[in-house]
Amino acid sequence: MKIDFREAKSIITKSNIPSIDYVINPYTGCQHGCIYCYAEFMIRFTNHKGDKWGQFLDIKQFDFNKIKPQKYNGKRLLLSSVTDPYIPLELKYENTRKILEKLVGTTAHISILTKSKFVVRDIDIFKKFDNLEVGISISTLDAEFAKIIERGASRPEERLEALKEIHENGIKTYTFISPLFPKITNYKAIMKKTKDYTDSYMFENLNFRPHNIPRIFKIIKEKYPKLLPIYENFRKDHSQWDMIESEIDAFCKNLNLEYKIEFHHGGFSKS
Ligand code: SF4
Repeated sequence: MKIDFREAKSIITKSNIPSIDYVINPYTGCQHGCIYCYAEFMIRFTNHKGDKWGQFLDIKQFDFNKIKPQKYNGKRLLLSSVTDPYIPLELKYENTRKILEKLVGTTAHISILTKSKFVVRDIDIFKKFDNLEVGISISTLDAEFAKIIERGASRPEERLEALKEIHENGIKTYTFISPLFPKITNYKAIMKKTKDYTDSYMFENLNFRPHNIPRIFKIIKEKYPKLLPIYENFRKDHSQWDMIESEIDAFCKNLNLEYKIEFHHGGFSKS
């Protein structure tokens, strides 16, 4: 992992994601190195030409005292959109924790989204906010498959244990079932496992992008060769997702769950 320290002009920036006003990305790059990651475009925008996603990390240098919590009152903040706020190196550099400490007092709605068990470290700070929720992103319960697609992230079971602990501490939680791999992601099994400690659900489809297509197809070919024609169909014809979307919709309505389906918008991190 190539580590660098770079001055950041701002650390809480305006967002293009629908229903999110500001995004907070404490780092550039991400140690989790997920094969489908939609944030890989950051390589071009951050002077990392030649670097591989998942193999570099810039620790943003910023005067955190500049963060004024009242500025964000009534707004919706997402932590994070193009990195994971609880990568292993957060334990050393603590940018996420420092930002949250400075935000205490805001009435903003803060949504934390992570694939890391280390999120539990900040339960004490989460409790200081009235309007904060913590979400765990999960695509599969299969630890072996998760290791292939999200090599640096916590094991699925560890993520769920973290979510449970957060919920037990009285903090609002959500499970973000993402990305949904056709015929692989068993969203019903994930929901069955998480329903007692999840306040709401979000769903996102697997977005095929030129940079991730070869990696996704290589893995499908190796692990699930029989699914290759199905994946070809999904890649070529986006309407294939409509059936899964209707299925999820009916399933959640039937169980009277709070949920949101984020299909067809091209990736939660960059819409
Ligand atoms: S955790 Fe999120 S930002 Fe990090 S590599 Fe995975 S998908 Fe990308």
